[in-house]
Amino acid sequence: MRELVIYNTLTKKKEIFKTINPGKVGIYTCGPTVYNFVHIGNLRTFIFEDLFVRFLRYIGYDVTHVMNITDVDDKTIRGSKNENIKLSDYTYKYKKAFFEDIETLNIVKANYYPEATKHIKEMVNIIKTLLEKGIAYKTEDGSIYFSISKFKEYGKLSGFNPDELKDGASGRVKLDEYSKDQPVDFVLWKSYNEDDGDVFWETEVGKGRPGWHIECSAMSMKYLGDTFDIHCGGIDNIFPHHENEIAQSKAYSGKDLANYWVHSAFLNVNNEKMAKSKGNFYTLRDLLDKGYHPMAIRYSLISTHYRQPLNFSEELIKQSQSTLNRIKEFIVRIKSIKKDKTEINVDDIIIKSKNAFVENLLDDLNISPALAAFFEFIRKINSKYDDLGKDSIEKILGFIKEVDKVIGCFDHLFKDENLDKEIEQLIKEREEARRNKDFKKADEIRNKLLSKGIILKDTKEGTIWEKI
Ligand code: AMP
Ligand code: ZN
Repeated sequence: MRELVIYNTLTKKKEIFKTINPGKVGIYTCGPTVYNFVHIGNLRTFIFEDLFVRFLRYIGYDVTHVMNITDVDDKTIRGSKNENIKLSDYTYKYKKAFFEDIETLNIVKANYYPEATKHIKEMVNIIKTLLEKGIAYKTEDGSIYFSISKFKEYGKLSGFNPDELKDGASGRVKLDEYSKDQPVDFVLWKSYNEDDGDVFWETEVGKGRPGWHIECSAMSMKYLGDTFDIHCGGIDNIFPHHENEIAQSKAYSGKDLANYWVHSAFLNVNNEKMAKSKGNFYTLRDLLDKGYHPMAIRYSLISTHYRQPLNFSEELIKQSQSTLNRIKEFIVRIKSIKKDKTEINVDDIIIKSKNAFVENLLDDLNISPALAAFFEFIRKINSKYDDLGKDSIEKILGFIKEVDKVIGCFDHLFKDENLDKEIEQLIKEREEARRNKDFKKADEIRNKLLSKGIILKDTKEGTIWEKI
């Protein structure tokens, strides 16, 4: 097998992927700011990250995936104030919605979802060290800033050259979000201001709250170590967020934060970034309400190369739906093979298709030719349908299931349409019972399903079922 090659934003080229620890990968992906429902632009990035993690696991890596939840920043505070409720009550609603959305889209859960408000101590520790080293400074109002002129590598990721800054041109910014072409000393700790209401922490660096960037540095290093393998996000994270993460982390630990910085392109609408602020967004719920199947949405977002902008339209989802329908028809056709013995070499077709599928993904997750290899497999098998026997059914369906370990869109196509709602409900209840460690109830449900001829299998990716 070839080696995995991935485009590193840091070096602006494709590189052979080498891990810090043999066989293990630590990956950090910037998670949602829980001030509203995520839109499908955000979900494009999360689905790309899911593809990446699934593929790393598929080729044998033991992956630890960490995704943060930003539950304190300017936007969450503003939102909770507008609704006149506690910050934690406000963010809880959107955190819950986020987890529902990723489950609906069959995104494999990360190993850890650290929340910013639960890691203030870790952030304060970093800030203290940066103050001691003279890289951070406190202003009169008690806020603490990172001095970008003290960090010589500033700009390495985004290409900005701080030497080009005229004296005094940099200024300071206390907001979490600021202009993409205006590098400035950024805030690490925001001193308390009455607008923050009851959102503050009394800490060794003062009364206040953290800036957004320090949240990710503290949480990634806590769960993955000072240096880990991969850091992901959408391209809008490159500057300032990731540039700032790199600066404050290395200034703190003396080590590089991550070896590979991997960014996905935008989901656009009419060639403009889908964004809350532009009002040109769809949430997952908007699309489900219109009757689209979640897997058609997932397929739409996963099937374009992650570094290529993708223009969103409902037409795109309709095309994906018809692609999934064709795969479904193929599965049904294969299940209905009548002959006993196969008269062609199915193994050979499968091996070649599998190699093409994997080799393309090894090349910077080149999804289009990988999927093309899969459809070529369907075409070849279909063209030899009359030569197929029952002894090939499992092999053929097995290959689709194998591809789906990475793509994650086809599982429902195997399900019997007549499977009644009650069974699906029971599977959900069992998952819930297991989450609550109520194993007695979980076993009862398993046995009940067994009596209906449904066998459950618990896999890394979740529970799957088969008819006996
Ligand atoms: P946020 O909650 O704004 O921090 O965004 C969460 C993730 O979604 C980040 O990785 C962003 O880069 C990503 N993101 C935001 N808008 C889009 C978009 N239109 N297309 C793709 N990714 C996006
Ligand atoms: Zn982040």
